[in-house]
Amino acid sequence: MRNEFLQVPATSLIAPAHRQKSPDSSQKTGKRVVVAQELGYCWGVRRALEIVEAAAESTGPIAPIGDVIHNPQVVERLRQRGVEGATSVAEAATRGFRRVAITAHGMGPHLAGEAASAGVELIDTTCPLVTKVQRLAQKLVRQGYFLVVYGDSYHPEVRSVIGWAGTSKAVAAKKIADLPWNAPRGANGEGISTPPRKVAVVSQTTKNVDELMVFAQKLQAMVMPEGGEFRLCNTICEPTSERQNALKRLVEQDQVDVILAIGGRKSSNTARLAEVGQALGVPSFHIERTEDIQDEWLADADIVGVTAGASTPDDVIEAVVAELASRGYRPPENGIRPIDAEYVPSY
Ligand code: SF4
Repeated sequence: MRNEFLQVPATSLIAPAHRQKSPDSSQKTGKRVVVAQELGYCWGVRRALEIVEAAAESTGPIAPIGDVIHNPQVVERLRQRGVEGATSVAEAATRGFRRVAITAHGMGPHLAGEAASAGVELIDTTCPLVTKVQRLAQKLVRQGYFLVVYGDSYHPEVRSVIGWAGTSKAVAAKKIADLPWNAPRGANGEGISTPPRKVAVVSQTTKNVDELMVFAQKLQAMVMPEGGEFRLCNTICEPTSERQNALKRLVEQDQVDVILAIGGRKSSNTARLAEVGQALGVPSFHIERTEDIQDEWLADADIVGVTAGASTPDDVIEAVVAELASRGYRPPENGIRPIDAEYVPSY
């Protein structure tokens, strides 16, 4: 079978952990699976799914606009419960939906107007941690900052933040070359473009803090000369930070030999987990389902670490753990992590 799940390349921005593997392999307790302490659905995605499922169950079909979640199994399950995505309000209305929903990633303010024009009800499941970034963007713009949203320009969350900023003085960027400036303030000459006096950065909630800091330091050096004012707002959400820290613990504490990052093929945060695992020095693979596991990945692996993207449901994670158990790996005694129904992240 063709291997579509390439081992991800190491990224230069994350310093590889200096793994201290035990020279005495007898210290290992045999073949086993270690599941990251934080993995799978994040708080905001879980909350959004609960809202749309409850709405569909009580009052009929509902169409989230855009990808409700990057996981084909969940998309199918939701479809059977009357929750079916549409690419636009107009398309949802044409297909007969009387209600549409904003996903956890959020949408710009235009969507409410489109829903009103189409005569459909709008349900907002935007994660409150994304709403916080949208409001902060508005505030920074009011305070006169040019807004830089550190993130993927195509991502709905980034587009929603720029939409709420409501200004042409806002841009999405993941690297300095994405910015409309190419030189520090005070520089001049042909083809030179310099930043305005006030620049603020917010981050897409799912980004990596180390990479954000590298980006911000470079931008700060462009803005600060000649009385420039630079502000960095770390808006990476707490669930994302915890997930990234849990992945590091798999490598540094549990000393796993290989990492399986479970999530839909289109899930960028799952791909990112595999990238980080790889950069930390452990062969890491992005898989969508159990069938994707390649025998050769496990050939020399005693301890298999499992993590999962923010849109991966627990049953898919459990299926992967069960598959590993069938291959002779001892599963975690207490299953995958418990869900704390009372948990609310700080924001
Ligand atoms: Fe909310 Fe963070 Fe999940 Fe995004 S990743 S939906 S901000 S909890």
